Amino acid sequence: MLSRPLILLAAAGLLAATGQTLAAQTASPGGLVHWQGDGITRCLVDDRSFAPTDLDGQSGCLVPLGLTRTDDIVAERDRDGQRERLRIGLGEYPYAVQRLHIKDRSRVDLSPGNLARVQRENALIDKLWARQGEPRFSLPLGPPLEDMPAGGRFGAKRIINDEPRSPHTGADYAVPRGTPVLAAGRAVVALAGEFFFSGNSVFLDHGNGLISMYFHLHELFVEEGEEISRGRLIGTVGSTGRSTGPHLHFGIRWQGARVDPSLFLGAPAAIRTAR
Ligand SMILES: [Zn+2]
Repeated sequence: MLSRPLILLAAAGLLAATGQTLAAQTASPGGLVHWQGDGITRCLVDDRSFAPTDLDGQSGCLVPLGLTRTDDIVAERDRDGQRERLRIGLGEYPYAVQRLHIKDRSRVDLSPGNLARVQRENALIDKLWARQGEPRFSLPLGPPLEDMPAGGRFGAKRIINDEPRSPHTGADYAVPRGTPVLAAGRAVVALAGEFFFSGNSVFLDHGNGLISMYFHLHELFVEEGEEISRGRLIGTVGSTGRSTGPHLHFGIRWQGARVDPSLFLGAPAAIRTAR
């Protein structure tokens, strides 16, 4: 039987033999690191493999740190025939606490029937994260509202009716009911329909592992399978599902990870870079 130090040595040897390990970085949960470089053919994170992404004219691997991540991440890439590695340390959880009061208790403490419905819906939604394919988008994405108000509260630790709940995984923008909601990029409509928590919802597949989400809509103007262009009217703002008033909840999954959607909307300065 191998002793523990021997296993560690073997692992270190493997690392030296197959590639170069670059200086460590840190990033917050829900953040992104753009690992820049030319000649990248493939990016690898966890069990995902994806194409590099251009940001400000620079190519690189866009490495997500999921909001609920609890450990460091080791990203890899193939570049000029070499495998490179980057370790990213998990930084502090930087988001505030938000207290909410939901009057409709049936949407907080679920009946067995509603719980079964949520589980069915989650199974349908969870299938979306594995979608890949050629990138149809470029960064930054287009705004989902013509005039984006200040907003967000991405990552907020939520206390709903005095009980701690899951953190907020998107950004909320309070605008009047009926405000047009626009596709953030060219996409295929992966899912569109009515869901227990998110109400009338649209999930857009932009390729290469990028999914954008638009929740609590009043009207829906697209159907599953439809190919749509950037800026296309996909619905209007509402307050359907579990919601405290009219607003757009905008969310992004990148390589299956929950990340701050504002990072995709033209705040590239907030994206950490590594070389
Ligand atoms: Zn929200």
